[in-house]
Amino acid sequence: MREACDGARARGLRVGFVPTMGALHEGHLRLLDEARRRADFVALSIFVNPLQFGPKEDLARYPRTFDADVTNARERGVDVVFAPHAEELYPPAFSTKVRVEGVTEVLEASFRPGHFEGVTTVVTKLLNIVGPCTAIFGRKDYQQWKVVERLARDLDLPAEIIGHPTVREPDGLALSSRNRYLAPEERVRALGISRGLREASRLFDGGERRARILEEAVREQVVATFDRVDYVSIADPETLQPVEAAAGERALIAVAAHLGKTRLIDNAVLGEDRL
Ligand code: AMP
Repeated sequence: MREACDGARARGLRVGFVPTMGALHEGHLRLLDEARRRADFVALSIFVNPLQFGPKEDLARYPRTFDADVTNARERGVDVVFAPHAEELYPPAFSTKVRVEGVTEVLEASFRPGHFEGVTTVVTKLLNIVGPCTAIFGRKDYQQWKVVERLARDLDLPAEIIGHPTVREPDGLALSSRNRYLAPEERVRALGISRGLREASRLFDGGERRARILEEAVREQVVATFDRVDYVSIADPETLQPVEAAAGERALIAVAAHLGKTRLIDNAVLGEDRL
């Protein structure tokens, strides 16, 4: 990967990089298109990073569709794919972790302890391997995008971090590799989240700014359709700190909830995103 990217830069090309865990769907492919628009040489990584999964999470059953991923990546004009084995990135003596404070300590933090440390460690490694680039992340994982922005700034990583808008199905469901887990009846219930986000968006556009009312509008839809809700939270779109009273002109509303064994997350920036 490093040789390929160094070679591209030596030829005067800009490198665009999209890190993923594979099981590629149209959302990932749109990030690759964005990388192609912003750069000349497109690098993709496929790595199911064990460090970012908790002991009770879905690491073992996470979907792996490598051959189809490579075919799709090739069709979208990817120049190089990096798909290391876990032992290559984490050999036995591996003992370094990268930890970001602040933006990692809210929203997902209490439900996935250690998750962001796994993310920031692997992203640091991947960006060091790829070298100077424009790296594209999805806003579907809004907090992850903000954590990686912070990481790149704080550690002077030579990467420009871009957040690409969430890609959705026509009915509103955010594309996710984990949607493959959903039984047909769960797939229908999963729409509760996007319905709630749309309702909050409608209220916000009508002038509603009280965090509690906006959260309640989402929660109502999610509680009605999901088995368990981890959080529905209004937060500052930059610091991710919870908004207690009134939201400003832009507000992040973020949701995590469970349908059977599947945990889904989604979000919208009220005052900005159109759902
Ligand atoms: P993953 O392999 O699912 O962890 O995701 C790899 C990258 O794709 C991350 O930056 C995700 O935020 C992004 N991504 C996943 N799903 C979507 C989506 N529906 N829309 C936009 N980006 C996405």
